[in-house]
Amino acid sequence: MGRVEGRVIVVTGAARGQGAAEAAALAREGAVVVAADVAEIPDTTIPYVSYRKLDVTCPEDWQALRTFLEEQYGRVDGLVNNAGLTHRARLGEVALADWEHVFSVNVTGVLLGIQTLLPLMPRGASIVNVGSLAALTGHYTVAYTASKWALRGLSRVASMELGPRGIRVNTIHPGYIETPMTASAPPAFLKANDAATPLGRPGTVHEVAPLVVFLLSGESSYINGAEIPVDGGQWAHGGAKFLSDALQREAMERSKGD
Ligand code: NAD
Repeated sequence: MGRVEGRVIVVTGAARGQGAAEAAALAREGAVVVAADVAEIPDTTIPYVSYRKLDVTCPEDWQALRTFLEEQYGRVDGLVNNAGLTHRARLGEVALADWEHVFSVNVTGVLLGIQTLLPLMPRGASIVNVGSLAALTGHYTVAYTASKWALRGLSRVASMELGPRGIRVNTIHPGYIETPMTASAPPAFLKANDAATPLGRPGTVHEVAPLVVFLLSGESSYINGAEIPVDGGQWAHGGAKFLSDALQREAMERSKGD
């Protein structure tokens, strides 16, 4: 028996990166996974994973997915709102159209997904929203950061409203994870990120997917409205690592001089 055996689970943004790893991990644990993405369907065949084209910002796409799920399975036991978009413009530079596009994918897309699929969700269903370490900090990518903070608000309201129906809503906050999204990050960012992370390295998609499986499974049946960082400890120190590192460097330099 898998940990999510027989559960029908939709994962958005599942053509690559974290979403692809989550879809595969859920399928390995027995779920029937519907992997949805606006991008071309990847050329892979994973048992129990079927691909559907879906733009999370498009209400008609969600309706079409709902009809498909209703006809095929009659229910949805899980929804992973993983599709997301970054945009690296700073406060003074961000264009209105880019700001709105980022919000439409990272926030409105999640609202549409929950609203549309909710009627198919029985008691015991589980929703996982993919936030970001940027949702816990003042990360410089202003549109991305603000959108992920907004997603936290949406997630909290959803956990309160859907709890009485037996449906749980939780949010995970990945730090720097190696995916196609971060492959385009400036090298200086990677270096600074390693320095800010107590584990001293980026994470992999295989270090995020198990948490998603756990939150979709009955093992997390009393976890609702939670926000869980997967960031190598970066958020926990709140900047104190730089002070600690500076003192340590100074102590080492002093001892070299003795
Ligand atoms: P990625 O860019 O590698 O993959 C994102 C996927 O979402 C792509 O397949 C893309 O086609 C899809 N997508 C984009 N817009 C869509 C839309 N409108 N409709 C449907 N699908 C759409 O990114 P990733 O790193 O795997 O990120 C996954 C999630 O994790 C995102 O929500 C991202 O914000 C979040 N996240 C990533 C990191 C990281 O370091 N990689 C850190 C924190 C949070």
